[in-house]
Amino acid sequence: MELYSGYINKLIEELAALPGIGNKSAQRLAFYIINMSPNRVKRLANTLIEAREHVTYCKVCQNLTDGDVCPICGNPARDRQTIMVVENPRDLAAYEKTGKYKGVYHVLHGAISPMLGIGPGDIRLKELIERLRDSEVNEVIIATNSSLEGETTAMYISKLIKPTGIKVTRIASGVPVGGDLEYIDEVTLLRALEGRVEL
Ligand code: ZN
Repeated sequence: MELYSGYINKLIEELAALPGIGNKSAQRLAFYIINMSPNRVKRLANTLIEAREHVTYCKVCQNLTDGDVCPICGNPARDRQTIMVVENPRDLAAYEKTGKYKGVYHVLHGAISPMLGIGPGDIRLKELIERLRDSEVNEVIIATNSSLEGETTAMYISKLIKPTGIKVTRIASGVPVGGDLEYIDEVTLLRALEGRVEL
């Protein structure tokens, strides 16, 4: 016998399919949504649809944005000669929160993982190389995570960029192994950035 109605089961199923939401959380959210006013539910649903429709990738750094170019790339005060390479927009946000980094970014949207079958062609690496071709960049800081995937990606990028003569650095490994950048406090992030070493 089904415990809940078909509609509720479907809602729980959809919510449970989201990352970080187990079955218990999905049930709690589903019942919360059922008890929300119809207007609030409509607003939530529309927000999801609109975000999915309008959010796109910055044509310069691949960060998520509503327009052609993200606010960081569009800011004339940022130093375009320094590019920090991060795995995802959350890592970018973590560095932005420190307020100390004045360069620009490049978001890979993933990391190379032979185990998971994710190769260089599956992340936004081609865009980085193209970007370096006709710009006055003099340093690329690789700030991928210190996981196996992050290190593999860092080595791969460094080998790719080295022949161009552009300086390639790697953030210091004061960052806990396997630690997602977004969970690391600002002081540790800044220390990792300041202690970066040339590859
Ligand atoms: Zn951008």
